[in-house]
Amino acid sequence: MDTVRVNLAERSYDILIDTGLLDRAGEEIRKVCPRAARLAVVTDSNVMPLYAHRVIPSLERAGFETALFEIPAGEKSKSPERLVWLWEGLMDFGLTRTDAVVALGGGVVGDLAGFAAATVLRGVDYIQIPTTLLAQVDSSVGGKVAIDLAAGKNLAGCFWQPRLVLMDPATLDTLDDKTFSDGMAEVIKYGCIANKGLFNFLLSHPSRAGVMERIEYVLTTCCDLKREVVEADEHDTGRRMLLNFGHTLGHAYERAGHYERWTHGQAVSAGMVAAAKLGVGMGLTPQRGVVEFLTQLLEAFGLPTVIRCSPEDYAAAIGLDKKGSG
Ligand code: NAD
Repeated sequence: MDTVRVNLAERSYDILIDTGLLDRAGEEIRKVCPRAARLAVVTDSNVMPLYAHRVIPSLERAGFETALFEIPAGEKSKSPERLVWLWEGLMDFGLTRTDAVVALGGGVVGDLAGFAAATVLRGVDYIQIPTTLLAQVDSSVGGKVAIDLAAGKNLAGCFWQPRLVLMDPATLDTLDDKTFSDGMAEVIKYGCIANKGLFNFLLSHPSRAGVMERIEYVLTTCCDLKREVVEADEHDTGRRMLLNFGHTLGHAYERAGHYERWTHGQAVSAGMVAAAKLGVGMGLTPQRGVVEFLTQLLEAFGLPTVIRCSPEDYAAAIGLDKKGSG
């Protein structure tokens, strides 16, 4: 088992990475939540039939009373209405301050369940069990939790670090290729911004099967990079913005496609290429071949490298970008 420890001033936690961890979720959670009696498991309609029957018995074997909250799969569930539904459900379940919420699923489940945990009873513990590649390398680590508003994605949220993150790489086997590739955009991003070894590994293993051969290395490397950035800048005011590579223009592409045509990963993919081209064009990116290598890698994973977008969409997305101030 690989462990990445995230050290923060107030709340530190472990990310555990191991095949078969789903069946040991209960015993691992018991170690970090010794006083909890109840666990509210939030999952979605796709993940529920795949993995709940393994996680719930494991939690019960460790002595927890459980309740399952199933949300419809998809971004639309990150809504204010769904948050209120979850708050009320947690109260009906009898959740107390020493109990905890478990997020079993992708980034949608993690963001919604995490925000519910951050706000119900002024904050209870939550445990992330991410089941998509994107959630494993990105959204389950770092404590950003949020829901969407009509004005845009992730506009109501906060920082609330999990108590524990449990990753079972075998859950990735049931992802469709598009969702797997979506996560690959973020994996490739880590290689670009901070780890040449990872980037070169991907260039030499340019397929889903190749990545899965060394998936624990890939997950550990990405989580460790995110750990380093989060530890240096927990609240995203400086260094953490490095993780935003490709996202400024990516948000414009997501917007241009009305959040339906392009997934987040696809938009970030084209956003990274556009940003790299700007960097080269402005003389800020001295390395030769950056755009070419990046394009080659993204295309190998079936990701788009050019997306058309109107000046209005660029302007609107840049106006909401986290790097904007004043
Ligand atoms: P998602 O949660 O919608 O999952 C994608 C699809 O995969 C869904 O249909 C889901 O039901 C399905 N799925 C999940 N696990 C599966 C499995 N093991 N097998 C088969 N199907 C499975 O989307 P996502 O890509 O995981 O996450 C996207 C969300 O994450 C967005 O809302 C985004 O804003 C958020 N996000 C948050 C952060 C953060 O720091 N909090 C960072 C990046 C993205």
